[in-house]
Amino acid sequence: MKLHWKVALWMTAGVVLGVLMQQFLPSAAHAGATWRSTAGGLELASVSPGGPTDKARLKPGLVITGVIRARHTPEEVTRPVATPEDLEALLAEAGNGEMLWLVVPEGDPRPLPLGLDPGSPLGRALGPFAFAADIFMSLLKMLIVPLVMVSIICGVAGIGSPRELGRLGGKTVVYYVSTSLLAILVGQVLVNAVSPGEDAELGLSPLVQELGDDRPQLIEVFKRMVPPNIVESMSDNRNMLSMIFFALLFGFFITQSREPHRSNVYGLARSLLEVIMRLAEGVLKLIPYGVFVLIVKVVGGTGMGVFKPLLIYMGTVTAALLIHSCITLPILLRVVGGISPRRWFRAMTPALVTAFSTSSSNLTLPVTMETVEKRGRVSGKIASFTLPLGATINMDGTALYECIGVIFLAQYYASVDPEFTLTLADQGLVVLMALLASVGAAGIPSAGLVMMLTILGVLNLPLEGATLLLAIDRPLDMLRTGVNVWSDSCGAAIVARSEGEVGPLEAGEADAPPPDPAPG
Ligand code: ASP
Repeated sequence: MKLHWKVALWMTAGVVLGVLMQQFLPSAAHAGATWRSTAGGLELASVSPGGPTDKARLKPGLVITGVIRARHTPEEVTRPVATPEDLEALLAEAGNGEMLWLVVPEGDPRPLPLGLDPGSPLGRALGPFAFAADIFMSLLKMLIVPLVMVSIICGVAGIGSPRELGRLGGKTVVYYVSTSLLAILVGQVLVNAVSPGEDAELGLSPLVQELGDDRPQLIEVFKRMVPPNIVESMSDNRNMLSMIFFALLFGFFITQSREPHRSNVYGLARSLLEVIMRLAEGVLKLIPYGVFVLIVKVVGGTGMGVFKPLLIYMGTVTAALLIHSCITLPILLRVVGGISPRRWFRAMTPALVTAFSTSSSNLTLPVTMETVEKRGRVSGKIASFTLPLGATINMDGTALYECIGVIFLAQYYASVDPEFTLTLADQGLVVLMALLASVGAAGIPSAGLVMMLTILGVLNLPLEGATLLLAIDRPLDMLRTGVNVWSDSCGAAIVARSEGEVGPLEAGEADAPPPDPAPG
């Protein structure tokens, strides 16, 4: 069976199994935190890392006196809580994915989207899938640092002359910036036309609340780009920009070094890249099964309760992503690259499905490179230069998402308090910041949402809204990561064509053996 059909089949099987488990196995909600009674109410004692309470940015020491369920709906109730048992009883009634609002003595209630209790029958059944999915993700993660470093070094050093490097770099950056701007524009038009925020019942208060003390400053992106310690940067998959910066310089200065050092170092980098790509090829064989376990884990473990009030918003994001990926990018592929979008899409299936199921451009990078080179027949020289850059810098889906998310929340807040209405200048600022945020966002799950906090902060909009969006972030993250990787692959193809490569799928089938297995 051809790889893209196999991947599609396993993915569908994952969705079906996930839905069945979700429907037929009893689940329970959990908050991932412990509480203790104090004189003033119930105090948050500890937070388990990565759990729902942690993700909602609630910190130990927070005191609550009650919990609101179904806020701003006819069924709204407020339950006083004084002991941990009160809260446990409430959790036993609540559903996975339900949004609770914690009443605090001063200020507005704090949102807490509940997660799935790992001890419930559904949680236990999903355990083995989550275990296998984690191993699969680690397999991909393990490749990121060596792959990005070595491939960019090879890419830059292999291009050789500074003039050629400037030309290729220029084309790549023009593609990245223009497609990201096109994506943002589609998002902006759509969110203004649909106005999903105007009559949304989000139950948010318009008071400014300081939730994001660790939100990144956009201008800091430039500072973070230069690594004070490259070994430290390499120890964290989120520091991709600084790694890229070092690799670009290192690659360039290989070409400026004297012989025999130039050939020695370049030869070593080429050999390393060859080995890493063979490793990536091995991982590619596991994609259908990896995708299967990931999808079962995500679909089975996601509570649907929280989606309802946000369906129009989710529909707007999805429609904009579809327009960008099914209309804008295919037109560019066809007109600028002369490549059949349908065939290119079919060839890219393994990378797209991996992006969709991992929600991470970085994790997908080994698969993207292997797919673009082998199935897309783009030369190693262009693939290893454009794709690692694209995975970090070029995020069309994220850019569009930032724009829609921010304007959506602004629409909501403006319908509560007109002071929050965005002016035309504000909208322009949103476009610019969405572009910067997409460059600065790491290619990891939910990075786009964290960047959104920054834009909300600059516009003086309450940050609390982003917490609500966190509850529904996963499905949208899957889609926008797919679009991010799709755009990276289209960019590689278009740049390859503009450099006179006959590759991109002109001759033969997508699955035919590659003409030259060696990259570079
Ligand atoms: N998860 C996305 C990516 O890796 C980034 C985002 O959160 O938008 O491409």
